[in-house]
Amino acid sequence: LPLDELIAALSVDVLDFPAPGIVFRDLTPVFADGPAFRRVVEGLASAAAADPRAAALASSGDGAHAGFDVVVGVEARGFLLAAAVALDAGVGVVPVRKAGKLPRERVSASYDLEYGSATLELHTDSITPGQRVLVVDDVLATGGTLAAAIGLVEELGGVVTAVSVIAELVDLGGRQVIAPHTVHALWTT
Ligand code: IMP
Repeated sequence: LPLDELIAALSVDVLDFPAPGIVFRDLTPVFADGPAFRRVVEGLASAAAADPRAAALASSGDGAHAGFDVVVGVEARGFLLAAAVALDAGVGVVPVRKAGKLPRERVSASYDLEYGSATLELHTDSITPGQRVLVVDDVLATGGTLAAAIGLVEELGGVVTAVSVIAELVDLGGRQVIAPHTVHALWTT
């Protein structure tokens, strides 16, 4: 089965979650399926290898991977993906966390949600200037979350060479919000 069809088959649409009128794509069955999870992890990493900017930049040395030196994952499902991608590539993993979780000096970015706002944070010393960064999360919806995460990496001098998600909810327009960065989605729906 092609990977997008496999993801579509395993994901579950949940009506009225987390609020009435919202259809939530639950991807946890994709994580729970061993072969699917492996293919997803490989697919997320392949976006960076294909990015011409990643190839053009010299590696900072530690990373074994051709396209990135570190993987940034967005709390919480992004952590599951980022750790697996990083381990497979032989590079480190850095968490972008929700406000109030990181103990040391950090940068913060707030963004609007449909109701209210959210804040993401990154340890100031977790990204080295010039480091090539792959940013991963499970779902691209309106794009606010990934835009904030990318902004934090760039604020610290990181070079976002690729952005990868399992699923892109096309109607919500997140791809336009992330531009000029391009998002590599394994499944568009
Ligand atoms: P955005 O900021 O609107 O793009 O929302 C993306 C964030 O919300 C990601 O961290 C996702 O994990 C989560 N999210 C939004 N919609 C869904 C969904 O339908 N299924 C799973 N996660 C979602």
